[in-house]
Amino acid sequence: MKYSKLFGKTIKDVSSEETSINAKLLTRGGFIRREIAGVYNFLPLGLKVIEKIEKIVREEMNSADSQELLMPALQNKESWIVTGRWDTFDVLFKLRSQTGSEYPLGPSHEEVLVPLVKQFVSSYRDLPLSLYQIQTKFRDELRAKSGILRGREFIMKDLYSFHADEKDFDKYYKRMMEAYSNVFRRVGLDAILTEASGGAFSEFSHEYQVITESGEDEIIYCSGGDFAQNTEIAKVKEGKECDLGHGPLKKVKTIEVGNIFPLATKFSDAFGLVYQDENGKSNPIIMGCYGIGITRLMGTVVEVHNDEKGIVWPDSIAPYKVHLVNIGNVKYAEKAYEDLVNAGIEVLWDDRDVSAGEKFADADLIGIPTRIVVSDKLGEGTIEVKSRKEKDSHTETLEAFLDTASIRG
Ligand code: ATP
Ligand code: MG
Repeated sequence: MKYSKLFGKTIKDVSSEETSINAKLLTRGGFIRREIAGVYNFLPLGLKVIEKIEKIVREEMNSADSQELLMPALQNKESWIVTGRWDTFDVLFKLRSQTGSEYPLGPSHEEVLVPLVKQFVSSYRDLPLSLYQIQTKFRDELRAKSGILRGREFIMKDLYSFHADEKDFDKYYKRMMEAYSNVFRRVGLDAILTEASGGAFSEFSHEYQVITESGEDEIIYCSGGDFAQNTEIAKVKEGKECDLGHGPLKKVKTIEVGNIFPLATKFSDAFGLVYQDENGKSNPIIMGCYGIGITRLMGTVVEVHNDEKGIVWPDSIAPYKVHLVNIGNVKYAEKAYEDLVNAGIEVLWDDRDVSAGEKFADADLIGIPTRIVVSDKLGEGTIEVKSRKEKDSHTETLEAFLDTASIRG
């Protein structure tokens, strides 16, 4: 991609309404643009990052034998009356049509999926079943001040599992925990599996929490990795010695990037979702629910991986792998661009007629993992290579770079 042609460029100043690090850096870098409070446009660069996160999430959910589907945002009010959530779900957006009918704008999809599953599942032979989607959610959040961390419109991966008994549910719940660890590790986040209260449905839930100063949540945890609880429920105090001898427990601010919890038979009971067992006896279906905030994940990565110059994308979700900068000589750059593209490397080439300083500053702000410079001084076929994470650069031939490009990823 040539930067001169890319829709959405870097800007120097962002609106004073953007106070969070993620919104400031993503806006300045040309990834997002605010529409209204809690609602954002994702520009081509931003969409690339989202697509990479979604690909990783899809791979992990598919490998846990879940099937992808797509459900509507505009939902059925009657189903929300059935579960009682029409009047109790505090952040539910309610729409009124021309004819006066009311519709919930989906903040979650139990009310759509359970009646849908009921149309196809009736026997023990149909279980277990796991279904997920990556879809736009709407929540009438009061605190929409954290950029894309808390949107009123946002993208979520929500997965729902259906089981014949508790034992089967427990087994799948553990499998999902593994899938979740894989997702967060692959996008470059160190997410702490944290015990939390179950809210409306059960005694407990598990949250995946990432430590950052800007987090809205707070957890007490052991750095040895054997204990973490959300402070909303935690009975222990900061400073208590870890039972396994890892030293005192710490209290830190965090962002919740994912949440998994048992639904038990709450929704199956509401909609009469049952299955016949081998003896022809009717039993309620046990459910679990598993969410990941895709756009929140993107914002969290930016909150964690940045420096005074801009974003530092992990390789796995960077919009491009290489940021090509030419100082002067367009001919060398054209050749390098072609060679890189032909080698299957995703390249953003800053082909604008602006100063080297401006190009370098923008490359640092955008945060692509590897910067390559070509210039008259370096001569044909030689490039300067710099990792966004490191201070120093080195020179090598373009050929040598291409030879090892697959290793670099
Ligand atoms: P929170 O406690 O942050 O309000 P939640 O517990 O209500 O979130 P869930 O309903 O479990 O969230 O949603 C699953 C995931 O979706 C969350 O773990 C989070 O990553 C993401 N998410 C929830 N609300 C938002 C939002 N308003 N904007 C962006 N992502 C969100
Ligand atoms: Mg929560």
